[in-house]
Amino acid sequence: AKAAGRNAYRFYDSQYARELSDRLILENELRLALERKQFVLHYQPQLDVYSGEITGIEALLRWQHPQHGLVPPDRFIPIAEDSGLIVPIGDWVLRAACAQAHAWRVAGLLDAPMAVNLSARQFDQPDLPEQIASVLEATGLPATRLELELTESLVMREPERSSDTLSRCKALGLTIAIDDFGTGYSSLAYLRRFPIDRLKIDRSFIKDIVDEPDDAAIAQAIIAMAHSLRLNVVAEGVESDAQLSLLRQWHCGIYQGFLSSRPLPGEALTALLRGMKAA
Ligand code: C2E
Ligand code: CA
Ligand code: CA
Ligand code: CA
Repeated sequence: AKAAGRNAYRFYDSQYARELSDRLILENELRLALERKQFVLHYQPQLDVYSGEITGIEALLRWQHPQHGLVPPDRFIPIAEDSGLIVPIGDWVLRAACAQAHAWRVAGLLDAPMAVNLSARQFDQPDLPEQIASVLEATGLPATRLELELTESLVMREPERSSDTLSRCKALGLTIAIDDFGTGYSSLAYLRRFPIDRLKIDRSFIKDIVDEPDDAAIAQAIIAMAHSLRLNVVAEGVESDAQLSLLRQWHCGIYQGFLSSRPLPGEALTALLRGMKAA
């Protein structure tokens, strides 16, 4: 047993070393990815639960890695966040998303807000509102067509400061959504003191609304509370018609999820929008 234990330790040890070196390699590659133009955005529509009309688009980052293929954000954003690389990457995301939204507008294909995810490091930049203003100016996108998505836990770290930053951003004319709502254990009443426009109910609460009465009760309660505080609500991760029909029943205004569309590359969504316009 002792020998096996030692072997197990050795195995663990080498595995740890491998993970560490993988991470260092990844971090170095990440450093070069921007100049090598390896980042791409995919876009997922947000739809009106009744009409099916597209009311917004969320930009989601991917890394087109020369060996590993399309790398999802959960695999590299934490590393980008730790190393501070998320700041220049996030700036690229904002620019690219605003440029795409503007292009769809001028082509007459879509005039709905573009939602962009912000990380903690970006949110903490003292000149964030000025940076956003300069991106809007450079791309030509009106501020009213930009939405910032911030997670509940991010804004709750330092509520006073967050509230101030959010107000300065909102003064530009954009809207604010609280992402992953329900996962941060904060009270909605408290959050409401922030200048926010909408809540995105986390997918984990939507997943089992059809089969689990407790989950259904929670989702329904969040929707009702949001309405009474005059916030609009988006359900994330909607995958089935049964889920959508419950959301309609509960008057959750907007949904997003694989049921309607997976996040798509810009060209694919352009083609889809053209098709919808022609129909
Ligand atoms: P998120 O902001 O909560 O984004 C929603 C995630 O759920 C996306 O994963 C999306 O592809 C996925 N999703 C959408 N509909 C469904 C569905 O019906 N079923 C399931 N199972 N999943 C669905 P993705 O693109 O892998 O992004 C993961 C997370 O990475 C995002 O979660 C966000 O926190 C972060 N992220 C993505 N892009 C950016 C970015 O540009 N900047 C920052 N800071 N974070 C980003
Ligand atoms: Ca989001
Ligand atoms: Ca989310
Ligand atoms: Ca999430």
